[in-house]
Amino acid sequence: MNYDVVVVGAGPAGSTAAKFLSEKGVKVLLIDKDKFPRDKPCGGGLCEHITEFDHIREKIETDTSDFSDSICMRGKIVSPSAQHTTDYLSETPLFHNVRRKKFDYALVQFAIDAGAEFLENCKVKEVFTTQEKAVVKLANSREFICKVIVGAGGAYDVVANYLRKKERLREKRGKDFGMAVVEEFEVGEEFIDRVYGKERTSMINLKHANLNGYAWVFSKHDILNIGYGGFNDEMKKIDIKNEFKNYLDFLKRNGYLPKWIESKKLKGAPVPFVGNIKKTYADRIVIVGDAAGFVSPLTGEGIYYAMDSGKIASEIISKALEKEDFGAQSLKSYQNIWRKRWGKDLEALRFFHRMLMKWPEKFVKYGSRDEKLKKIFIALFIGNINTSRMKWKIISRIVMDFFVYDVFRRG
Ligand SMILES: Cc1cc2nc3c(=O)[nH]c(=O)nc-3n(C[C@H](O)[C@H](O)[C@H](O)COP(=O)(O)OP(=O)(O)OC[C@H]3O[C@@H](n4cnc5c(N)ncnc54)[C@H](O)[C@@H]3O)c2cc1C
Repeated sequence: MNYDVVVVGAGPAGSTAAKFLSEKGVKVLLIDKDKFPRDKPCGGGLCEHITEFDHIREKIETDTSDFSDSICMRGKIVSPSAQHTTDYLSETPLFHNVRRKKFDYALVQFAIDAGAEFLENCKVKEVFTTQEKAVVKLANSREFICKVIVGAGGAYDVVANYLRKKERLREKRGKDFGMAVVEEFEVGEEFIDRVYGKERTSMINLKHANLNGYAWVFSKHDILNIGYGGFNDEMKKIDIKNEFKNYLDFLKRNGYLPKWIESKKLKGAPVPFVGNIKKTYADRIVIVGDAAGFVSPLTGEGIYYAMDSGKIASEIISKALEKEDFGAQSLKSYQNIWRKRWGKDLEALRFFHRMLMKWPEKFVKYGSRDEKLKKIFIALFIGNINTSRMKWKIISRIVMDFFVYDVFRRG
């Protein structure tokens, strides 16, 4: 069967690419190995910039079926010793809490409504391109021919792996890959109202288990989403279940979790960071979302970047279809656009991640005393700041706080 575009993977990146391509009249096949609705280990925090997508904003505003489970208006960043806390109550939403099962299914539905054909429960086993065509082969031996393939299969995407081999790109390195584990607990609305408030406070505990990462609690409507993560090679060295239990015990001791809660189904997934693949396009191929490593190295936020890369890809591919030119040169502007829009910011966040992990106590202490720095920290965490342009301003503020609070010891 022939299509203009086959999208491999129906997560946020693939479904969004399929939706916007279909709206432009492109014949799209969207394929996923899982049957939907399917779950995905995730915090489910959609930072406020997600409302740049009209269809998401409208759905959040109008949907009565709990599409957005809760809105987080307050963020706490806690230092490893728990002696310092940057506590910020916002007047506008920091992020929207969703359940991935529902959210991802809704995104697939948007793509179908726009005209995309959806094939679920079908694993793509192999892809290849020639000058004349692109070919997608399923594990059950079915085969599809198209003009362009979008690789949206997440961290271990089969299309990105093909591109890596074809273009002789280096394999993923330790610091390009993280891992996070998560579990959701039904603790009831009354508990969450009482402990986390109507502002649905989110809490981040830096360097849990001494990892270069953090543990989190996101408070949804009546469930708590609790997890932690760090670099893959560090996670491999620790007892993951035991460290999760330690975090639950810490939360219980401090009243953030009912004493009767026990971990039963902890789940983990990889978190690929920006820079994990140097080239995100090739002849007849575009890579989007986690497959391309579009995740904040500071926070692990990836849903917005997955969706936006899907949208950018749809614009570039539809232009290529108009020109009937699917060569790498024709698709190259995809990479230029995402780098300009937020790619450089994600790279700059890698620097702030390193700094935060080196001096977490100092940073959280400064953030707890300096209102301006507090706002900057929160903006960095919710991806609401032009990090690459503001880098030196942020650094000078931190240096100033170092003199104020550590050298002259005021405040
Ligand atoms: C524990 C954890 C917590 C996180 N918390 C947050 C958060 O709070 N906020 C946030 O913004 N981001 C978070 N992230 C990151 C976020 O989950 C990802 O960035 C996001 O899911 C990327 O979307 P995607 O569409 O690129 O990939 P995915 O969501 O991984 O979707 C890929 C899809 O491709 C399918 N697929 C894979 N291989 C094949 C194949 N061979 N054939 C067919 N289909 C295939 C899969 O079944 C899947 O449906 C978290 C990640 C983890 C691991």
